[in-house]
Amino acid sequence: MSAAVVSPSADQEFARYRADFPILAERIHGKPLVYLDNGASSQRPTAVLDAERRYAEHLHANVHRGVHTLSQRATDAYEGARERVRVFLNARTAREIIFTRGTTEAINLVAQSYARPRLGPGDEILITWLEHHANIVPWQMVAEATGARLVVAPIDRRGELDLPAFTALLSERTRIVATAHVSNALGTVLPVREIVALAHARNVPVLFDGAQAVPHLKVDVRALDCDFYAFSGHKMYGPTGIGVLYGREAILESMPPWQGGGDMILTVSFSGTTYNALPHKFEAGTPNMGGAVGLAAAIDYLDRIGLARIAAFEHDLLEYATERLSAIDGLTIIGTARAKASLVSFTLAGVHPHDLGTILDQEGIAIRTGHHCAMPVMEFFGVPATARASFAFYNTRAEIDRLVEAVAAARALFG
Ligand code: PMP
Repeated sequence: MSAAVVSPSADQEFARYRADFPILAERIHGKPLVYLDNGASSQRPTAVLDAERRYAEHLHANVHRGVHTLSQRATDAYEGARERVRVFLNARTAREIIFTRGTTEAINLVAQSYARPRLGPGDEILITWLEHHANIVPWQMVAEATGARLVVAPIDRRGELDLPAFTALLSERTRIVATAHVSNALGTVLPVREIVALAHARNVPVLFDGAQAVPHLKVDVRALDCDFYAFSGHKMYGPTGIGVLYGREAILESMPPWQGGGDMILTVSFSGTTYNALPHKFEAGTPNMGGAVGLAAAIDYLDRIGLARIAAFEHDLLEYATERLSAIDGLTIIGTARAKASLVSFTLAGVHPHDLGTILDQEGIAIRTGHHCAMPVMEFFGVPATARASFAFYNTRAEIDRLVEAVAAARALFG
């Protein structure tokens, strides 16, 4: 690994995008903001903020039910955003794109509508040890309701999935596999193609939690051949309160609605109700139209830069940060997978992560500290918490230098 991996020209080019993000000009405690909490929520560029505002100022009304012009504009904007997501994921049809509040709601939808009616005592749900709570608890709830068993595939000390163990745990009782595409606590990129091939060889459908993947890697659900894919807008430069569940059409068709209400029905009477077609069957109530429009604008923005170029730039940033942080006495990086995306989790001897987070905040540096909604990962590594710096393409080597200096100073003072 070399420290000079980011070419100055790439650094300069990507630094120019900072001007697209008004919030990056904020000062925190009198210091220029260094925003390294992108894994929790990334920031929105003007293009997204403008699209949300334009929607609110010129297009907004309730969707689908109105004959008046604004309602039709809102419907066109909302359905246009769905088509934009379809292209982004390379799904076959927009019927496979369901808008949700985020990754959490998307996974709960699959747990309640796909898994719960199908599972019974002795059936198994296979996940991994490095999941976010959003990809653990919904399955525990289904297991509790049905008598099914949650089976957890182990990871190793690098934070990589133990693929032979995963293979051995896939059994004739496995009814669904659900794993992260990228771990939010460790940055591990999981071997998603192998997971799909292994599961499909046993006719087991696969869900990927793509919350940490879509901002950093090009995702093509047809190439991946997964059955479900979930992600959130707010981690990929879009708004909060909007996310996506991709589902293979034939499987979605076979699933009952999970929430009832307006928009998900064709007819309602007390002798029986008929349900709407995909994707509306899974979108009860008034959706987040402005959020969907903002998400589509975020996708356009990412496309203009190019996810492949973003991935390459962020990879270099990650290597630079890894090398510089590793050199700090007493600092241990948690999660050293060979394939990693865009974040460094670490502990610092003698300084609790929460204290470190507070010290860095005084320097204007925003990192996340805690268990990152992945308590089993913390348990596995025997730490109560880590500090996590998670990068976006608008971060710079100079910002990483500031992080490193502040962490080293904290170690010198308190460690
Ligand atoms: N899965 C992963 C891997 C995540 O990082 C997160 C957010 N931290 C979630 C799921 C949940 O996403 P949301 O809160 O947007 O539903």
